[in-house]
Amino acid sequence: MKHAIIPLFIPHWGCPHQCVFCNQVRITGRSTSVTAQDIEKIIREYVPVRDDSRYWEAAFYGGSFTALPVKVMEELLKPAKQALDEGRIRAIRLSTRPDCITPEILRLLKRYGVKTVELGVQSLDPQVLKKAERGHTAEDARQAAALLRQNDFSVGLQFMIGLPGEDWKSMRYTARKGVRLKPDFIRIYPVLVLEGTALGQMYRAGTYRPIRLEEAVCKAAFMKRWYNHHGIGVIRVGLQATDELDTGHSLLAGPYHPAMGEMCDQYIARHVITPWIRRAAGPVEIVCSRRDRSKVMGRRRESWIFYEELMQGKGTITCRESADIAVGTVRIYYGDKHVTVMIDENVPLEN
Ligand code: SF4
Repeated sequence: MKHAIIPLFIPHWGCPHQCVFCNQVRITGRSTSVTAQDIEKIIREYVPVRDDSRYWEAAFYGGSFTALPVKVMEELLKPAKQALDEGRIRAIRLSTRPDCITPEILRLLKRYGVKTVELGVQSLDPQVLKKAERGHTAEDARQAAALLRQNDFSVGLQFMIGLPGEDWKSMRYTARKGVRLKPDFIRIYPVLVLEGTALGQMYRAGTYRPIRLEEAVCKAAFMKRWYNHHGIGVIRVGLQATDELDTGHSLLAGPYHPAMGEMCDQYIARHVITPWIRRAAGPVEIVCSRRDRSKVMGRRRESWIFYEELMQGKGTITCRESADIAVGTVRIYYGDKHVTVMIDENVPLEN
């Protein structure tokens, strides 16, 4: 069944800290939070009557939901719970900070039918967390994830790449520690320099330099492969495109691309396929499913041009689609040999 999200934005609501990189108003393009009446209306607009063709899920994003006063949390959750009881939606999810999870809060979320909680962890390196002015520790993230798991919530972790003070060593440390938190799924976002943030000031003062898009794609690919390798799905790489990010004046600098997720997948595919092309002494044929063709070719055929260059002096390289090849794998014929390799290990969505 197709998964469909009903987004409910609460920009910066509940946030006890202003993280250096964050400006939810600029990211989401929304300046006001939803009210209980809005929630009822929005859910009705998406799903006026029960629709069993999709897995509808109401999702509270953009703030620190569990840092809101109990009364406000209840007000916001009530209309979503009603839609859940009526069978119009199947689940409720929300995102919050790791230092705002307690047994009492989880009891409240359970009462209102919340199934999934996403923690904005961003990094597990204490120095990086400090520089980002997150106001919580890596231990907070560990404890919050453990408490959520003990209480049977589905746990998502959000990580950022390119935070001030983060290098490869720090990112690999975060990746290693992140697996130990046993999340059900991951989201990976690049750090962008947005107008109206402390990072924007640091950028203008020359004390912060964002990573380039190529580096962001490479780092995201590393993270995705790492988590996939440990059986953890990565459900998003890159920020949701918005008019504000695409054409507005909010984005000062940073590795933004509306197709970053695809670029990451194409990077991984190239990383897997390249050694076999290097190994070939003669012509090569790559067979893939129709869905994977763009992963093999790369954006603007960049990967394919790269393969053709590698093949110079060895013969031709061709790509053929076949329904016999499983999605996520390719078969590479070279000489009288062939090999089947995985180009996408991403496990299915958590639902
Ligand atoms: S990153 Fe999260 S906690 Fe920090 S200001 Fe933004 S919404 Fe609030």
